[in-house]
Amino acid sequence: MQTSVLVPVVVQKRVKKRVRVPQAILSLVKSNFFVSGVRMPFSSDFDDTLVSSPTDKSKRLALNGTEVESPLVSLLEKRLPFVIVSGSRKSDIQARFTDPLREVLANRGSLALMQQVVVYTNVGAIRCTFDAEGRLDEAGCEAYKSQFKIPEEEGGVLSEVLKEAGHEYWQRFQAAQTSFREEYPSFSFSEPVVANQGEVKLTLSPLPQRERSLALRFIEARLKDARRHDLLFTFRIEFGGRSTIDVLDRRINKAFALRDAMARLGIFEGEEMQFPYFGDSFEIGVDQSGRTFAGNDIATLDVPNVIPIAVNLNQGNIAGRPKVIAGGSGPEATIAWLRYFDQNLPNAA
Ligand SMILES: [Mg+2]
Repeated sequence: MQTSVLVPVVVQKRVKKRVRVPQAILSLVKSNFFVSGVRMPFSSDFDDTLVSSPTDKSKRLALNGTEVESPLVSLLEKRLPFVIVSGSRKSDIQARFTDPLREVLANRGSLALMQQVVVYTNVGAIRCTFDAEGRLDEAGCEAYKSQFKIPEEEGGVLSEVLKEAGHEYWQRFQAAQTSFREEYPSFSFSEPVVANQGEVKLTLSPLPQRERSLALRFIEARLKDARRHDLLFTFRIEFGGRSTIDVLDRRINKAFALRDAMARLGIFEGEEMQFPYFGDSFEIGVDQSGRTFAGNDIATLDVPNVIPIAVNLNQGNIAGRPKVIAGGSGPEATIAWLRYFDQNLPNAA
């Protein structure tokens, strides 16, 4: 068995180097991903980990005809379960991952392999599983989602608070120096909406990086005014992307999603049943406004079963977290690991 993987690592320029396979992964590969008779999964983030983020807006297919296809499909054929946990929206993941994957499998006459795939989107707020014909299990998706449904009363308060924060932000924008208005001539905000029943969204477009904590302060101040500061214990307010502020159930994170996947696969929580998780956001830091932030893959470190492999572009970002394995940079590195697994796992009996 190979004991190292040749992975691309970006330091200053793109170099390829061999990375020693950690003992936990070596044993897993040696046992064909079986621990106590249960098959462990391959688990991973999506964007910039399994595939490159699309640089253009044309939802191009991320999987079809790319390099990731061959080891991924081959590992599915070897009956390896796949757990994907992404921060992206469901529609985006469908367009760029599950639809193309279904197409590839349909052409090979092996649509049933879709049953080995579970995809969590919106950082774990939504779960997609598939039947033997490769169809999305809509009922299962709804059942999973319903546990995060925001009660009507709280949803109303949160929408109101976000609306006021949006107005305050808008007024401040109107009063801001011309430079800001020149820089963002198309600034706008839309009324907050309750999305998926489990999320309240406020769109501020664009929301400049340096303005982000200001918008959050408006929201927190409004919650205090409304004597509903308690809502911060139940809900997390965060930036959902470049232009949205999302309010969602605090339980929703990648660890919650992984634990749900483990329950489905029959994996008990603990270090006895470990499996790899690949992610590109294992960084912790302080932003310009002094707020600490943690990449959305950091939550997975709470799950003792996870063998965390970081494919952060900047491999220096994971310094100081001994548990996290530096696994090379970007999707190319993840694919190199997938290929390593594929080369070392026997074909299904
Ligand atoms: Mg990521």
